[in-house]
This record gives sequence, C-alpha cells and structure tokens, in this order.
Amino acid sequence: MNSTAPGSALRQQHIRQFKTIIGDEYVLTDEEYLQQYGHDETENLCYPPEVVLRPCTAKEISEILKICNAENIPVTPRGAGTGLSGGALPHLGGVLLSTERMNKILCIDEQNLQVITEPGVITEVLQEAVKARGLFYPPDPASKGSCFIGGNIAENSGGPKAVKYGVVKDYVLNLEIVLPNGEIIWTGANVLKNATGYNLTQLIIGSEGTLAVVTKIVLRLIPLPKYDLLMLAPFQSLEKACEAVSAIFRAGFTPSALELIEIDALKIVSATTGDSSIPLLAGTEAHLIVEVDGNHLETLMTEMESISEVLTGYDCGEIYFADNEQQKNTLWRLLCRKA
Ligand SMILES: Cc1cc2nc3c(=O)[nH]c(=O)nc-3n(C[C@H](O)[C@H](O)[C@H](O)COP(=O)(O)OP(=O)(O)OC[C@H]3O[C@@H](n4cnc5c(N)ncnc54)[C@H](O)[C@@H]3O)c2cc1C
Repeated sequence: MNSTAPGSALRQQHIRQFKTIIGDEYVLTDEEYLQQYGHDETENLCYPPEVVLRPCTAKEISEILKICNAENIPVTPRGAGTGLSGGALPHLGGVLLSTERMNKILCIDEQNLQVITEPGVITEVLQEAVKARGLFYPPDPASKGSCFIGGNIAENSGGPKAVKYGVVKDYVLNLEIVLPNGEIIWTGANVLKNATGYNLTQLIIGSEGTLAVVTKIVLRLIPLPKYDLLMLAPFQSLEKACEAVSAIFRAGFTPSALELIEIDALKIVSATTGDSSIPLLAGTEAHLIVEVDGNHLETLMTEMESISEVLTGYDCGEIYFADNEQQKNTLWRLLCRKA
C-alpha cells in the first residue's frame, strides 16, 4: 500500500520515518485509535486522522513537521481533546499530533513567580503544584480537571475567575514553539517587561494550533490569596440575575469569581449526576455564584455581606453561603460539570 487513504499525501514511507523518529509504539494506525483521536467535545463530529503520533520532545516534533511540510501532509496538534470549537478535529486527515506524553512541570521558580511547563500537563495539576508552593495560577476553565495547559494556550481559555484575574493570555510570558517548517524558536522572554519587537507570544495564544506547536510554556504566577468565600444566590428572573451582576461591579466590588447558571442547565446536571446539593426551587430561573478572595478574612466577610445586600435589590431568594472547603468544592464541581 502506497497511500493510507485515497488522495492522501501520507504514504507508508512516512509512517516508517515517523517510527524512526519517535519509536514504533508511539505511531498509532489502528482504526480504534483513529476513531478515538478523531473527535473532541465539539458536538458529535468525528474526523479520523490517518495516523496518530505521540512525540515527547520539541526535537521529535520538529523532525515530524519537517517531513509533513515538505510532503504537504496536514497536521493537527491536540491536547486533551476537550475543545468545544473543533480545533483538534483532523478534518483534513493526515497527522494527529498528540502532546499527551509531554506532561512534565519543568520548574517552579518561586523567586521569580514563574512556572515552566510542558504543554501536556493537566491544568488543575499545574494549579495544585504551584499552590503547594504558595503560588497561584488563576485561569480556571471549567474543564481544568481534564484539559491541558497547551490546549488552554491555543484556545486562550478562561473561566469564572476571569472577572478579577483575566484569562490565559494575561499569564503567558514566553513560549517555545515549533514552526511548520520544523524550526524551534522562543517567542519572547521570561520577564514582565519585554516591550521590543513583534509580540509573537500573544500571536500564538488563541491561534488554535494553526500557526505552530507549543512545546514549552513560561507562565507568570501571583501569590496565593489566603482566603476565599463563596455564595450562591437564586433569582426568580434571568434578567434580574444579569442586572445584579452589573450592580455588583457598579457598587465597587470585584468578585474573584462570578458565574451565572440558568435553571435548565442545572436541572440537566442534577438529573444526570443525581446530585441534589443545590435545591431546584419552584420559580427560580437562574443562580449566581459569587466568590471573593484576599488576605483579610474580616474584610472579605464584610464584602460578602455588602454584595448580598446588593443582590437582594434584584429579587434574589435565600442566599446559600458555602462554609467549608467541601461545600465550596461540591458547588464548583456541580456548576462546572458537563451535563
Ligand atoms: C465540560 C467542559 C467545560 C469547559 N469549560 C471551559 C471554560 O470554562 N472556559 C474555556 O475557555 N473553555 C472551556 N472548555 C473548552 C476546552 O476545555 C478548552 O478550550 C481547553 O483549553 C482545551 O484544552 P485541550 O487540552 O483539551 O485542547 P484540545 O481540545 O485538544 O485542543 C484545542 C485546540 O488547541 C490546539 N492545541 C492543543 N495543544 C496544542 C499545542 N501544544 N500547540 C498548539 N496547539 C495546540 C488544538 O489544535 C486545538 O485547536 C470546556 C470544555 C468542556 C468539555
């Protein structure tokens, strides 16, 4: 067999070359794997690639891309496959380049508040690792327990903490990337002030794997706030819940996290998971989850009281305050869960 699919540029000789570069066991051509890597979380779509490659270094990726570039073979980089915009779908066939073996946190630099990591590290694993050193990496996509930090860079992900802390682009200092021609470059420098030249780092962030493969990531960190408090407020009207969001900010508060959950979404999640931690009260159309964080507990408690007073002006029902870590985690898990 010369070609793996009709009209394809990929040939058996390329498969042999890939095996030489990364080893036989990391070149997958079984139908079962092609189906598995042919979809992400975007609707019900499946575009099986012709081959799945699982390299573990930038050098290996460089060698692979040199071949694909010269032979016009399509390449689709992939993180954990949790994307909702189809970026990891190999709709042109060709090579699916998985980064899942590149899963090491290389260095947590406490002095400079930075972490250097490979792209295949699960976001929550990275967050927990820096937290253990008293540091904080805030971007928190709801998929943080399964998505990769490399995928987050490629999608410029964000989550409920974006209101106070911003999204991924606000934390990336420097990236090692492999260009389509196989060249390995760094896009910036590991410093906060890097004002000269084109901003290649920000160009790569959010580019969904179309410009380069990200192989190392330097993130800036901040000190971990000592305390956080969480409340859940039910609203009889979706409109009022939205108005309340604006009112919180206009009253001068910046919550560390804010999320609106429509009642239908919550009903589906409760039914699917069997979790009834949040009562589904008749007449409730939406919930707001509000978190504040900081280093002074009393200030935070006063802030929570003031925010709840703002909310009561918008027909909010009885507010539930999560008292301990377990209650907070239960709420976040339920609200950030895929139905
Ligand atoms: C239940 C659920 C909740 C979610 N919640 C959120 C949320 O709150 N906020 C949010 O922003 N997103 C959310 N998402 C979407 C998704 O999790 C994010 O976009 C995440 O960043 C994708 O990461 P991934 O590792 O799964 O990437 P993949 O889905 O594998 O890939 C995503 C894109 O990144 C590219 N890519 C991956 N790795 C690299 C790399 N190393 N170099 C170059 N390109 C690369 C791929 O080609 C693709 O275009 C959610 C998804 C689910 C299923």
